[in-house]
Amino acid sequence: MTKHVCPRCGSTNVEWIIPQNWSKWECRDCSYTGPIIDADDDLIAEIKADWEENKEKYIEEEYARAEQMASGEDERLDEEMEIAEEDELSDEELDKKLEELDL
Ligand SMILES: [Zn+2]
Repeated sequence: MTKHVCPRCGSTNVEWIIPQNWSKWECRDCSYTGPIIDADDDLIAEIKADWEENKEKYIEEEYARAEQMASGEDERLDEEMEIAEEDELSDEELDKKLEELDL
């Protein structure tokens, strides 16, 4: 039996925050966001042990990553993904959409 767990701290206290995006999960215990993994009890124990041991290092890494995202280097920001989707519309559809937005 596997469970959905946070790949960082091994918690099963995870929530799917954006239904349209399978890779967006949030961990209630360590505030990790991103794709989660399926793990069995052995793996969960391993992740938890690793997390307890390297917690500070991981939090530091996360912080550095967040800073990088804030500076716009991450191409997978949701906003940019939406723009990419709009690019697939025809000019006519795009015009219509812009009209709707310009209330
Ligand atoms: Zn977690």
